[in-house]
Amino acid sequence: MFDHILVRYGEINTKGQNRSQLEQMLMRNVQQAVRHWDSIRVRRISNRILVKLNGAPVDAVLEALVKVFGISSLSPVMVAPLDVDAIVAVANQLLDRMAVAPRTFKVEVRRGNKRFPMDSPTLTRHVGAALLASHPSLTVDVHQPEATVQIDVRDEGAFLYAEKIPGAAGLPVGMSGRVCALLSGGIDSPVAVWKAMKRGLKVDLVHFHSFPFTSERAQRKVEELTSTLASWSTDLNLHLVSLTQTQAAIQKSCPEQLRTIILRRMMFRICEAMARTKGWLALVTGDSLGQVASQTLEGIFAVDSVTSLSVLRPVGMEDKQDIIDAARHIGTFETSIQPYDDCCSLFAPKRPKTHPSLAEVVRGEDKLDVEQLIETALQSVETKKVAARTESPMQLT
Ligand code: ATP
Ligand code: MG
Repeated sequence: MFDHILVRYGEINTKGQNRSQLEQMLMRNVQQAVRHWDSIRVRRISNRILVKLNGAPVDAVLEALVKVFGISSLSPVMVAPLDVDAIVAVANQLLDRMAVAPRTFKVEVRRGNKRFPMDSPTLTRHVGAALLASHPSLTVDVHQPEATVQIDVRDEGAFLYAEKIPGAAGLPVGMSGRVCALLSGGIDSPVAVWKAMKRGLKVDLVHFHSFPFTSERAQRKVEELTSTLASWSTDLNLHLVSLTQTQAAIQKSCPEQLRTIILRRMMFRICEAMARTKGWLALVTGDSLGQVASQTLEGIFAVDSVTSLSVLRPVGMEDKQDIIDAARHIGTFETSIQPYDDCCSLFAPKRPKTHPSLAEVVRGEDKLDVEQLIETALQSVETKKVAARTESPMQLT
């Protein structure tokens, strides 16, 4: 019955050049999200994007579009020719096909097309009277109606709809540049990646493993997380990097209580070296202040001081419960809680130093051949392009 989906977008304050960039990026991302349906045509009309279904299933297309960042709301619409009788006929259909028949309604008209001969109040009254006549049990309630028949009179035709579905909000992915996110198998970093994407960042992922000490399943878990995140964006690049040698060297020659911080410094150095060829403008992590020993201000300072890239911590100030709620909404939670060892937990010191000074950490790295270890890690990089998964989460056990 619905032949189009009307896409509304834009944060209230995106203006000027940002606005046209937002429109271009969003148009591209919408096209990407519906690419599986050959019949669909997407085009821009003033301040909106119009998705013509040509027979594609409206519910499935909506499901894909509610995950596109930058969209503020969506409405399945029926398009009527610019003719009063035709508009009335479609308004009747719209009411008749509602899942729950409303008892009260109102009509709202917006007439962007000033060439349409009937003005908004007249059209509102005309359609309202026609609907009352054809639905004797209905009454008008202009304050709290159970159904609102919206009529948007545009150059392209009259768009009729009754439903406004909230979009994912945020900014279109790609609008804010490209960054590298450090993705572990935990709960926090996938949420951090999602939040970065929501702010318009194009995110490449780096995961460090210590195969054969970490299992292949642990790696599949990270691919699974990546795939869920890809359903909110497009295919994602996942770089798998071996830290096995680095960890062995740290274990051999660094003070035990500084291991985690030094390992994190190595991760950042490796990412920074990769950033030179990948065009990453910042690093994104799932650190949350105070959550574990390495996530104190001193720990964060000691880690950040090895890189000149900006470090973004989208969940840095959030409570764990809020992060968990977000992970459930995103769809990563069930995968994140699968029990597979991360390289960090395997080598974690029993009593990590929570407030180390930078000098102490630098001294602790004295015997580490940093350049050589970075080089070895870079040679181990394996890159996968991970697509959005379509079926329900795979069971890893
Ligand atoms: P998470 O839930 O994301 O694992 P966490 O609270 O368990 O976070 P840590 O394990 O201390 O915290 O890791 C802090 C951050 O460091 C992670 O959020 C992630 O960005 C990065 N990180 C940790 N381990 C890895 C890894 N194996 N590969 C890539 N990044 C990692
Ligand atoms: Mg973790």
